[in-house]
Amino acid sequence: MNIILLGPPGAGKGTQAKRLQDAHGAIQLSTGDMLRAEVAAGSELGLQAKAVMDAGQFVSDAIIVDMIAHRIAQPDCAGGFILDGFPRTAAQAEALDGMLAVKALKLHAVIEMVVDEDALIQRITGRYSCASCGAGYHDIFKPTRMPGVCDACGSRDLTRRTDDTVSTVTKRLNVYREQTAPILPYYAAKGVLHRVDGMEEIDEVARQIEAVLAEVAKPAA
Ligand code: AMP
Repeated sequence: MNIILLGPPGAGKGTQAKRLQDAHGAIQLSTGDMLRAEVAAGSELGLQAKAVMDAGQFVSDAIIVDMIAHRIAQPDCAGGFILDGFPRTAAQAEALDGMLAVKALKLHAVIEMVVDEDALIQRITGRYSCASCGAGYHDIFKPTRMPGVCDACGSRDLTRRTDDTVSTVTKRLNVYREQTAPILPYYAAKGVLHRVDGMEEIDEVARQIEAVLAEVAKPAA
């Protein structure tokens, strides 16, 4: 299945995309992760992107669309993909339509994760993860059992995103409202938009997403 997870920063797109990847074998395509990999590698793109990301702004549509177009063409995406953090602008949504049309691929569902914005700042500024295995944690909601040590792999290399500060998150939420939320009606008009309650527990959000996918997979009556 080819799915888009849409929602503001901190809505839980990455968490749910990883679960869907494990459950369905579709590949998680996170443009944020791709950009952070470029930053970590110290590439020219990474250097440019870091300044934009830390300012809470969007990387240019041309760069992002190019990145996704290359990634979708890889053989591991043939079994389906979960777009996490893309598209984020109307131009990206239109470019994605073009890419899918060329490959005769269907977009099965766009799932909007609806969240209360006030809760997002606390969610985002408290999160951290293991640099070795990627396990995610939160200062309040899900701390590691032993302070400073990853529960999953025992690494002490726990890390926070440099753009998870209060001031950057506030800007990222504004940019979401101005540039990303307006693409929701675009998908609603295509009849592929579904909503889940992103304020629920992770397992319950996953259950709601599975219910949407089961509905979408039903043969047309
Ligand atoms: P994320 O991990 O999805 O929250 O993305 C982190 C940052 O990467 C965003 O705040 C943007 O600066 C940049 N970014 C990720 N995806 C996109 C996109 N589709 N369009 C523009 N910028 C993006």
